[in-house]
Amino acid sequence: MVDNYGRSITYLRLSVTELCNLRCRYCMPEDGVCKKRHEEMLTQEEMLTAIRAAASLGVTKLRITGGEPLVKPNIVELCREAAATPGIEELCLTTNGTLLPRLAGPLKAAGVHRLNISLDTLNADKYRFITRRGELEQAIAGIEAALDAGFDKIKLNTVLIGGFNDDEIPALADLTRRWPVDLRFIELMPMYDSGDFGPEAFLPYTVVTERLPELQSVAQDGGVAKLFRLPDAQGRIGLISPVSAHFCAACNRIRLTADGRLKPCLHSADEISLKGLDEDGMREKIREAILSKPQWHGELNYYERSRAHRNMNQIGG
Ligand code: SAM
Ligand code: SF4
Repeated sequence: MVDNYGRSITYLRLSVTELCNLRCRYCMPEDGVCKKRHEEMLTQEEMLTAIRAAASLGVTKLRITGGEPLVKPNIVELCREAAATPGIEELCLTTNGTLLPRLAGPLKAAGVHRLNISLDTLNADKYRFITRRGELEQAIAGIEAALDAGFDKIKLNTVLIGGFNDDEIPALADLTRRWPVDLRFIELMPMYDSGDFGPEAFLPYTVVTERLPELQSVAQDGGVAKLFRLPDAQGRIGLISPVSAHFCAACNRIRLTADGRLKPCLHSADEISLKGLDEDGMREKIREAILSKPQWHGELNYYERSRAHRNMNQIGG
């Protein structure tokens, strides 16, 4: 379906849980989420109904996200049914990777095509610091399990954080030589409560091209990242700039939260509830959400923070 600004909306990002086994400092509070009542959250059946309704309106790409989607019981079954939904051509999942050693094979067998795995540092102490509890070893084992499972594509996501991982830009980029993966550097977004990070932690994406003058620009693929490659690398480097150079004009996505709210725009407070509706009802609300998608997300910087009244674990990125 085409929105009021001529954008074809073909991509649904579905957050299947707000819960997570980590507590990344830029994403969620240390004490976790205040657990909502079970009845407030979408059931698995409602999630599948929403996917069918979205597919009937022209959505062809689905990303499962969270919170951490792999902590959700029955995630493999949910992926299997989502992959089998008529119209869904591409099923992707975003994860912190720590549970992939057990789940990479079953997810691939269930029909997940592509994985994005988050990795902000290659230093075990810094990993424990930024995630407030994670073990780098488990994330690396997860990436290796994903590589063994044979997904169509694996991307690593790194949030650029000044004073934390800017010194690791070359080492992180070098992972595209070590493994057949793309690595994307993503600007830190000023969410509702981005924890400890203020304006000084924000780095524009251009810091990457400054630190890596050997980067060669390569053909763009229509996605949101500006694409480059290191000489002799197996994968590409993507730069994603939601803050310094927004890509709203090319936005093809809508989001659905685990508590059933459609978000026409990541950084807007507007939400439309799907909870309790049947497929026809959901289709109408999705149509409404697409037609209410704003032209752009408005000013976004560390003084004009995101207007979404949610942390990232409650939206899905
Ligand atoms: N738990 C999974 C993971 O970490 O990949 C999926 C959910 S997480 C919310 C999705 C993505 O959002 C991750 O790549 C994470 O790094 C990113 N993210 C979270 N908070 C962010 C922020 N304030 N700015 C930029 N990216 C953020
Ligand atoms: Fe969890 Fe992902 Fe948020 Fe980190 S970024 S706290 S892994 S949901």
